[in-house]
Amino acid sequence: MSNPNSFYITTPIYYVNDVPHIGHAYTTVAADVLARYWRLRGRDVFFLTGLDEHGQKVQQAAAKAGIDPQAHCDKLAPQFQTLWKRLNISNDAFIRTTDQPHKSIVQRYLQQLYDNRLIYKDDYTGWYCTFDERFWTEKDVIGGLCPDCKRPVERISEHNYFFKMGQYQDRLIEHIQQHPRFIRPDSRRNEVLGFLTTQKLGDLSISRPKSRLTWGIELPFDKDYVTYVWFDALVNYISALEYKGAGPLLDHFWPASVHLVGKDILTTHAVYWSTMLMALNLPLPETIFAHGWWTVDGEKMSKSRGNVVDPNKMVDQFGADAFRYFLLREVPFGQDGDFSQAAMIGSINSDLANGIGNLLSRTLTMIERFSDGIVPETEEPALPQHEEEIGNAARALPHSVEEGVAALAFRDNLQQIWELIGRCDEYIDKAAPWQLAKKPDNHGKLKTVLNTTAKALRLLSVLIYPYMPQTAVQLAQQLGLSFDFSKPLSEISYKWAAPITGIKI
Ligand SMILES: [Zn+2]
Repeated sequence: MSNPNSFYITTPIYYVNDVPHIGHAYTTVAADVLARYWRLRGRDVFFLTGLDEHGQKVQQAAAKAGIDPQAHCDKLAPQFQTLWKRLNISNDAFIRTTDQPHKSIVQRYLQQLYDNRLIYKDDYTGWYCTFDERFWTEKDVIGGLCPDCKRPVERISEHNYFFKMGQYQDRLIEHIQQHPRFIRPDSRRNEVLGFLTTQKLGDLSISRPKSRLTWGIELPFDKDYVTYVWFDALVNYISALEYKGAGPLLDHFWPASVHLVGKDILTTHAVYWSTMLMALNLPLPETIFAHGWWTVDGEKMSKSRGNVVDPNKMVDQFGADAFRYFLLREVPFGQDGDFSQAAMIGSINSDLANGIGNLLSRTLTMIERFSDGIVPETEEPALPQHEEEIGNAARALPHSVEEGVAALAFRDNLQQIWELIGRCDEYIDKAAPWQLAKKPDNHGKLKTVLNTTAKALRLLSVLIYPYMPQTAVQLAQQLGLSFDFSKPLSEISYKWAAPITGIKI
């Protein structure tokens, strides 16, 4: 078992047949929020992302570009790595499946399964979809088209190696039933259970003859074959723990806390990966969370439509924090969402510029002007009702944010945080500090307003940090707070009652 204080979060390893798009950014930003949140709370975090570099699509993309597959991967890898830097992604490791240690580890696991007679060779005839790199059975294929991508399939007859996936069907059903948090959200869990309880789970072809595909990891027990790309790719979640950390991390971090995946690859994770782990006698991840897809202006995103959202352009135009905020605020995590520049600009104006930005600048200006840049002590209440409500909300917020993070309810989290901003805005408007400043009798009330809003901003900086790290750091600095977000924060940093008086902004 992993260490109870550890938190292992993964994104899928992205397929390098093309440059990164909004979908890649979405998963990776969500993973980053979890990683940053739990690090701040003192958990020992390992955050893994990387690239899936083998398979037919990579081989084809490279051939089309007239370069060898490794050169193709080497050319695309920095595009992902640079984007993650620009988006402030705090991954601890970046795995590439063409790393030599990964290849050796995949071969070791294949050999282990082969030695344990969990892999066997058989004849196979089926309908093959080149795009999805998988076989379909007779009943799946309608009108000669792949049921998944609707491209034409071809009939192929060949020898292949199979993993005895089918024998784990009952155990997998039982595991899903006994662990309600294993597959999330619930709608996805029900889909997987529905499929597993009504269809017979077959064995999985885990090889591809080299005559058809050369760009893969060679089977250790048959040099005429390479490994099916999914077998190779899924192993990354454990191989990285062997060679990507300072030392061996498998015992410390496995099983993973959360595998984040797009809904299109849920089955691969929930079924292929789970049964592979069972066969390898390794525990299953705690949670596989499948999120939704983005459309763009109501349409499916595709190259042919020319509407693919380039995350780099979003960072250029709006900044990393605004893009991160929008991705997680716009749509409940788990559901499909629609991206439009208009919606993004609207959310930046209302929530960021007029929301948190305005609250900060108003508060700083007031403290400068009315208190010589020093946060004053609370004196007599200015608006007791509002002050009590703000205090109650601020005391409850850290706990509800933590629950939201644990549930991956990013949107709820941001809504709750922004409610506090709204309360503070209303409070300042009603308390009218510029009026209070005019009468010395009211200076006690004025001090209370300044103290209350400064405390609210202190809490906001801590709570928005996982979502908008740059903004949080700037906010804390401008408030004169000495938070070091690169380390776990003390409990007191989340406490409403913690004194703030005397801090020089
Ligand atoms: Zn297909």
